[in-house]
Amino acid sequence: MTDSIDKLKTLLGEVADIGSAIAVLHWDQQTYMPSGGAEERAMQIATLSRMAHELATSDEIGAAIEAAKADVGDLEAPSDEARLVRKTDRDFTKEKKVPSSWVTEFRRTTALAHRTWAKARQESDFSQFQSILEKIIDLRRQYAEFFTPFDHPYDPLLDDYEPGMKTAEVKSVFENLRPQQVELVHAISEVSERVDDTPIHQDFDEKRQWDFGIEVIKAFGFDFDRGRQDKTVHPFTTDFGIGDVRITTRFDPQFFNTGVFSTLHEAGHAMYEQGVDQKFSRTPLAGGTSLGIHESQSRMWENLVGRSKPFWVAFYPRLKKYFPDQLGNVDVEAFYKAINKVEPSLIRVEADEATYNLHVMLRFEIETALLEGKVEAAELPDVWNTKMQEYLGITPPDDAQGVLQDVHWSEGLLGYFPTYALGNLVASQLWEKIEEDIPDLSQQIETAKFDVLLGWLRENVHQYGAKFEPMELLQRITGSGLSAEPYLRYLRSKFGEIYGLDG
Ligand code: ZN
Repeated sequence: MTDSIDKLKTLLGEVADIGSAIAVLHWDQQTYMPSGGAEERAMQIATLSRMAHELATSDEIGAAIEAAKADVGDLEAPSDEARLVRKTDRDFTKEKKVPSSWVTEFRRTTALAHRTWAKARQESDFSQFQSILEKIIDLRRQYAEFFTPFDHPYDPLLDDYEPGMKTAEVKSVFENLRPQQVELVHAISEVSERVDDTPIHQDFDEKRQWDFGIEVIKAFGFDFDRGRQDKTVHPFTTDFGIGDVRITTRFDPQFFNTGVFSTLHEAGHAMYEQGVDQKFSRTPLAGGTSLGIHESQSRMWENLVGRSKPFWVAFYPRLKKYFPDQLGNVDVEAFYKAINKVEPSLIRVEADEATYNLHVMLRFEIETALLEGKVEAAELPDVWNTKMQEYLGITPPDDAQGVLQDVHWSEGLLGYFPTYALGNLVASQLWEKIEEDIPDLSQQIETAKFDVLLGWLRENVHQYGAKFEPMELLQRITGSGLSAEPYLRYLRSKFGEIYGLDG
């Protein structure tokens, strides 16, 4: 390795260290910190964030990147060095285009907006949130302008979460997907009584839910020597390096799905992080390549594995031991159907597999219209409710269960939502390839054997971290770009069988 790469890695290591320290503070804040710590914690995080930003955009790093670029030559080459320099250069160039005055204003506005949103949602009153949201939208339009020329003003925002992805591509995939998914949900709702979900709406002791979840993710291959699980209000995964990846979960004592599927979902994220090659430690290549690819891993373990019949053939007898009174008289078939009941609902995070993406597409369409200037903040409640009726056939009774439900906009996170749907599509694309490569996958899952599956993901996805851009990675693995077809095939086959739909 050349001296210039060494020098760059040393500097990047320091940026990564500060980032990890910030992550520890965030994790602690959301798990164990007493509420009295909030103000001082905010200062600690702000100070470290500023230091990280200054270091990451310093002239010293800039010079180190230029020197490394000269030594590496072709940044498109698939070597670790070329890709490290390429990614670092890409992030640096992007960050440098954003004036620090904008960053300060954005941070200040979103810090205030979070409280305003929380209160507006509490009181179910969009008008309280409207003016600060207008400010955020305005700041986001300004942000896009820093990156002119672009094909679409939403592109620079999307690129922050899904590097290289263009709005036009997402649009065309969603436009193909939406009518087909709406049609499927409609067909299911005609025969919704065929699935009875009362078995999963009973009293489920929290401690036993916890123990069952741990038993499952141990079997999956979550490495407890390099990770742990704790409780929180809004489940998330974070890491302080490849050797320490933390997940969090929550429980609903009256609804089985919440706890176990949060645990499985976050474990999917965490196993991705744990599977990155150690050589990328303390560099921008450690960690997942995009939110969409990350979500493909979490949704795969949660849904394609965790909500599948083979999985419950293996684990239902074990679950019954934890809950003999609740499930003693429920057979595996009835239980499998119950956890997969499809029901158009108001809240995205509680949505089933068949309706989930409709919630995401609705937000994507609204966000792109906001960036295009075709919709303004004041119109959002109406636009929201109209689209909910169109896609899901229900109208939110109030703003809290409608336009105010998600935290993202208050944090300025426009451009983020599409990655949730992309994750579902990519998970199905990968799954078709996995089934080709591991023909007896179902039988393996039925016997709680996951090492071959995890090994496949390690080899094809995890080990590379952020070395390849998301669509490049997908292309390398499946030989094709983003497609909704595998996902639609999956939904139709699974729910066609559960609901006894024709053809
Ligand atoms: Zn996730």
